[in-house]
Amino acid sequence: MLNTDIILTGTIKNPRVAKTKTGEKMAFVSLESEDGEIIDTVFFPRVWKEYEVKIKEGKFVTLCGKFSNNIQNQKNDKNRFAVSSVLPRVKKTEEALKTNWDLIKNPEKYEKPMCFKIHRGTKEIGGTCVEIWTDNARVIVDMGTPLVNADGTPFDEKIMENLSREDLIKRQILPDIPDLYRESMNTALFISHAHKDHYGLMEHIHPSCPVYMGNAADHLIKLTNNFLGKEAPKNKIKHFKHYTPFKIGDIEITPFLMDHSAFDAYALLIKANGKSILYSGDFRNHGKKYRIFDFFCNNIQKGVDYLLLEGSTMDKAIDKFPTEKDLEEKFIDTFKKTKGIRLVFVSGQNIDRLVTIYNACVEAKKIFLVDFYTANVMKTINNKASSSIPFPSRENFMEIQVYFPHYLTKIIEDRGKYNEFIKPFEYHKKNIDKLDDIADKVVMIVRPHVIYDLEKGLQNYKDGCFIFSMWNGYKKDIKNKKLLDFISKKGMPIIDHLHTSGHADLHCLKLMVEAVKPKHIVPIHTFKPKKYKEHFSEYHVLDVTYKETIKM
Ligand SMILES: [Zn+2]
Ligand SMILES: [Zn+2]
Repeated sequence: MLNTDIILTGTIKNPRVAKTKTGEKMAFVSLESEDGEIIDTVFFPRVWKEYEVKIKEGKFVTLCGKFSNNIQNQKNDKNRFAVSSVLPRVKKTEEALKTNWDLIKNPEKYEKPMCFKIHRGTKEIGGTCVEIWTDNARVIVDMGTPLVNADGTPFDEKIMENLSREDLIKRQILPDIPDLYRESMNTALFISHAHKDHYGLMEHIHPSCPVYMGNAADHLIKLTNNFLGKEAPKNKIKHFKHYTPFKIGDIEITPFLMDHSAFDAYALLIKANGKSILYSGDFRNHGKKYRIFDFFCNNIQKGVDYLLLEGSTMDKAIDKFPTEKDLEEKFIDTFKKTKGIRLVFVSGQNIDRLVTIYNACVEAKKIFLVDFYTANVMKTINNKASSSIPFPSRENFMEIQVYFPHYLTKIIEDRGKYNEFIKPFEYHKKNIDKLDDIADKVVMIVRPHVIYDLEKGLQNYKDGCFIFSMWNGYKKDIKNKKLLDFISKKGMPIIDHLHTSGHADLHCLKLMVEAVKPKHIVPIHTFKPKKYKEHFSEYHVLDVTYKETIKM
């Protein structure tokens, strides 16, 4: 604030002309207010030349200028009030001018802060929620479902059923941000990407609160809700655009598209009152969109005040993860070598991985057999965001065929949504009653609920393979474990190394820090916040505790 122009009126005292090293004339002039306050001002050569005749001992003048540095060190010549012009006449009211003198005496009284508070994410992965506010506006970044409870035990979503909002806040499941649950001006929720640990609690906010996210992320969330039979939130969803700044009150937000296992993921640069925060979101640079990370590094402003840096992989601290491209080669190799059916267990929303597997199918000349949920996801992304993403179509991507799993088909039919989600893929339907007949030609995406279909349609497991293409931690999930146990019992070989993380490796984290050069690093989305000091020793790593307000 003090770096902006200030207008001061007062009486000239003791003007002293001096010469610069290059022999130009400049002047040091004292200015006395009506209340007898005195400040030292400086007229640099160009300004002095223009206004010299107006500056005479005892004359009442109006000066415009600014402090180029910290006002409290006025004794230091560098921090004098540097005059930029002498104004002919005062337009401001007397009161405003008095305020200006007060501002110079008590700058801290006029500093407008920006504050932030991490409601969840300082010592855990999942359920990330950050609140950022000024005295004029409030933005909440992410509002995810927790993966663990405050004591580190796994979080069970079922405990939320039948609990009131008050109870959910009391149990520290919902963030305690009153403005989120009532009508309030200049409050908005931002969702960085369509992973549930970032958006899962958004249905609890007041319907008048606008929600900002990427276009494709919005479609993915709507599709998932629709499949789960959940009602869509009534909030106004607004789509932000990559590298296009906009404002909520006095807070300016610039989204940066990032490479992550979720399609359409963003980092957010947030600025107000001369302060800045960069929320990294979830990111990496070894996926299909690695080039977008280079764009980020080349275009992000240096020296932000606080970098809220995700550290999902901080426990491993591996310098380089394999790229999606590396994986593609390995998939091709495995698909070619395997004689029987190839079953792949992968997240239906990990578009990068689906594209990797699709490409490998094309290369290995296999049919890519997907369930209709995956088909819907691919079609949505193709139609709404990126036409290069393969999906079951009559014109292109002929390798893709669709199967209708018994259990999921029944759910969708019962809900009366057959025409919406299943009918569009009838043309591409592959019958799975006799999988053994087509096993050598097929790569099939599976999920826990297809055990029923496999039991019915597949006899030969020993010649095939089961590829678990996800984070190994997901093996513990009850439903996933059931599928894995079923596969083991059938004697099918299980491959679990055809995977790469959706998150940044150490090398990539360091690239971000070097690009941003933050004044402070704040660990977020990590189980290992203490590790940051080890890896970013040249930077100031802030130990932010749960729900501590940081005033900038
Ligand atoms: Zn996440
Ligand atoms: Zn994520």
